[in-house]
This record gives sequence, C-alpha cells and structure tokens, in this order.
Amino acid sequence: MSEQLVEALRGAVGDGHVLTDPDVVEAYAVDWSRRFRGPVLAVVRPADTAEVAAVVSACVTAGVPVLAQGGNTGLVGGSVPGADSAPTVILSTRRLTRLDPVAELAGQVTAGAGVVLADLHRHVRAAGWEYGVDLAARESATVGGTVGTNAGGIRVCCHGMTRAQVVGVEAVLPDGSVISHLGGLPKDNTGYDLTGLLVGSEGTLGVVTAARLRLVRPATGSAVALVGVCDAADALDLVRSSVPRGVRLLAAEIMDAGMLRHVCDVASVPWPLPQQHDHVLLLETESPADGDVAMDLPDDRDVVVALDAADKARFWSYRERAAEATAVLGVPHRFDVSVPMGSWDAFVSDMRARLRGIDEVEEVLVFGHLADGNLHVEVLGPEPEDERADVVVLAAVADHSGSISAEHGVGRAKAAYLALTRSPAEIATMRAIKAALDPHGLFNPGALLPSGPASPSRSS
Ligand SMILES: Cc1cc2nc3c(=O)[nH]c(=O)nc-3n(C[C@H](O)[C@H](O)[C@H](O)COP(=O)(O)OP(=O)(O)OC[C@H]3O[C@@H](n4cnc5c(N)ncnc54)[C@H](O)[C@@H]3O)c2cc1C
Repeated sequence: MSEQLVEALRGAVGDGHVLTDPDVVEAYAVDWSRRFRGPVLAVVRPADTAEVAAVVSACVTAGVPVLAQGGNTGLVGGSVPGADSAPTVILSTRRLTRLDPVAELAGQVTAGAGVVLADLHRHVRAAGWEYGVDLAARESATVGGTVGTNAGGIRVCCHGMTRAQVVGVEAVLPDGSVISHLGGLPKDNTGYDLTGLLVGSEGTLGVVTAARLRLVRPATGSAVALVGVCDAADALDLVRSSVPRGVRLLAAEIMDAGMLRHVCDVASVPWPLPQQHDHVLLLETESPADGDVAMDLPDDRDVVVALDAADKARFWSYRERAAEATAVLGVPHRFDVSVPMGSWDAFVSDMRARLRGIDEVEEVLVFGHLADGNLHVEVLGPEPEDERADVVVLAAVADHSGSISAEHGVGRAKAAYLALTRSPAEIATMRAIKAALDPHGLFNPGALLPSGPASPSRSS
C-alpha cells in the first residue's frame, strides 16, 4: 500500500518532490528541540493548492496520516510524528511561496503558507508597512506554521497574537475540499468563524495554504533599554512608571540571571549591565525618531540605552539567543506557559520549590514576554522521556490559574495535560469539531487532543 501511495504522491507533485531517502527525510522527522521524532513514510512538497488537495486525497484514500510542516521550528513536538505514530506523510509547505503585492487601501497582504516570516517582513516593509508578528525563529518559521500555532512573539503587547492579524485563510480540509476566504473584507459577519477555527489548530483540521494578513504602520522610531530589576513585579512596576501616556510599548521582555549567563557564555559576550541583577528587563518603546528616548527611566536604576541600530540589535540578541543557548547544553524540557498578570513571581517560586523534589533537575531557567504574563521555563537535567518535571510545572501552572500553552501550542508535548486548563466540556467540543472535519483521524494524530481518556485534570 505504501508503494502505491508513493506512486500516487509522485503523480500529484512530480517525482522530484516526493522525498523518501532516509538521510534526506531525517531533517523532517526530528523537531527543532530534538526531543520529538517519529516515523516518516515520505516528505511531499506540493507547489500549489491543487497539489496540496491531491496529496491530501491520496493520503486519506490510503488511510495514512498526513502532517503539515512549515519551518519545523515548533517547540511542542507538533511538527513531527510521535514516536508511536504510524508512518506519516509530511506535507512540507515550503514551496507555497505566493506573496502578493501589499493591498495599500486595505493595509493587507496575501501570503502563501510557505513564506518565511523574515521574507514577509522584508516584503511589507518595502511597501511602508509592518507585519505585527515577529519572533526569534523568523528566518525559518513560516506563515502557515505561525497561523497553525497562533504564534505570539515579541510584539504581542502591541499588536496581539497571530489570530488578530489573520483576516482570512485558504485551506485544504481532510476531505480534499478547499475553502478560500482571502477577499480581505474588514467586515463579514456571515456565520461561523472558520478562519479563527483554523488558526491555532496545529494541522489537526486541515492544511492552510495561504493567509490574508492585516498589516500595521511601522513605529516612527524606537528606543531600546536594558534595565536591572529584582523580579517580575519590579519589572512590571518599572514598565508602568517609565512608559509615558500616549507612548506605545513595543516590547517588554525579561530574563533571569541564570539564563542570561548562559547566553553570555554560549555567545561569548559580556554581561550587558555595569552591575549584576537577579533579572534583566528589555524595554522597547516607540519614539518620535530613532535616537529619541521616550521613556522616563529613574536615575537610580542600572540601565543602558541603545544609541543606534547596532546597539538595539546587540541588546535584542541577548534575549533572542535564549532558546539556542540552552539547546547546546542538552535537550531541555521547555515550557511556554502563562499566568495572570501579577502572579509571575509567586508562580516561579512555587514551581522552583516543587521541582526541588526531583533529584535529576540541575537547573531551572526562566525568561519570557513579561507584558503578556508569558513565561518560558527551561528545565535542564531530566532525560527527554522523563516527564516528572512536566507534570510538576504544568500542575503548578494550573494551580496558579494559568495556561499550559501561552503561544507555542499543545502539540504532542502537552496533549496529555490539556485537561489541566481546559474543561471536559471544552475538550468534548474540540473532539466533536475534530471528528466532523477529520472523521478518520488522519490529520496530525496525537497532537493537540489527548488520545486516551486518562489525563491529569485540575487539582482544584
Ligand atoms: C528560537 C525560537 C524562538 C521561538 N520564539 C517563538 C515566539 O516568540 N513565539 C511563538 O509563538 N513561537 C516561538 N517559537 C516557536 C515556533 O517558531 C512557532 O511555533 C512557529 O509558529 C512555528 O512555525 P513553523 O513554520 O516552523 O511551523 P512548524 O514547526 O513546521 O509547525 C508547527 C505546527 O503548525 C502546524 N502547521 C505548519 N504549517 C501548517 C499549515 N500550513 N497548515 C496547518 N498547520 C500547519 C504543524 O502541523 C505543527 O503542528 C520559537 C521557536 C524557536 C526555534
């Protein structure tokens, strides 16, 4: 059967775009974190929506799972099959690179799923616009992947998550049909929000082939500062008091000293401030022109302000190298969680206390998007398959009324824990939607929804 399927796939996209050589396929079978890997029957690289539909139909006819993959920078194991998955067809979207001219009047653009975020940024900037979603993986992450995960990133406090930017999508559904809603009408109240449903569905309901995206006007200029702070509460106070009314906050990122030291070691760069601190805050605000500093930073703070574009890039690189800095130390257990504003420090100290009960835990590092209550926690020490740290961290999140996924999605890493922060009724509704669209369960099976009934639920 698999030979027949491979033949059908070759017929759909051409011989050269069906990859089966194990050495070539390996890069698609393991995710960025190196924690997740699964069996791949073939990698297929369709060039347009009709070819995507043909690939989907061939897989469904053969009863073989199909998994949409963009840049494979996802951090929750959703972009590769699970270790116990059936051999899966990876539908790589990287050839879906349609990029239309910016629609000036609407302030929108239509982009293919395979367009890399950095290319989208360059394209819209050349036309005097900005795309509101940006993240450190911008040179590899795709429009389809960021739509599939409802990615957040460094500008959420200013522009919102990906869902807030997506005006419409084109997608191939599991029955091979194509829905296309790329007209870009600002107002369209006709029934269920299928676009909103597909955003964040992690490839479990269909393959997004293109998206109509809302654009924003770029900041006139910006100021970037690094400031030493005690903890998240201190940092939030500083953000509140130092950003004057009417000035747009573009970013507020925080790193604890442990993470920052790893970045300094791995990148061979000096500690960025004159003094040592428990945490460092990166603050970026809009200013009338580059070089103007539209922030009221107190004189008694240990602070450095960027003087030019090179300084800004250097300050940002401390924050943007975080994920890579720990990747060289091993395979960390990575968590992307959120807690209510004001609960950050209480959650961190509770979580750290609970993790002390696991002997194998060597280090716990915390950084993230302060203004969104979004923490990235990295636990070093336990083997990749040892889930005790996962249980502890995610239970602590639930106990602090947080979410087990702030922006990376659920994927395979968190599917078994979904019931910690979503109710049985919500999960049953999600299952009903999944069954209606994908009755054979062939679209990214094992990701997002828990496969068995027994998963941890809220402790209170
Ligand atoms: C260094 C680094 C920094 C990061 N920073 C952030 C951050 O700040 N904020 C953030 O939110 N994420 C961040 N991420 C995670 C990752 O970049 C995002 O999840 C991104 O959205 C993934 O895009 P991708 O193209 O690589 O998707 P992939 O990893 O290929 O896929 C991710 C998920 O989307 C699904 N998918 C992919 N394409 C499609 C499609 N066309 N249709 C339907 N489903 C699809 C996949 O099946 C999978 O479930 C970071 C990752 C790295 C490595």
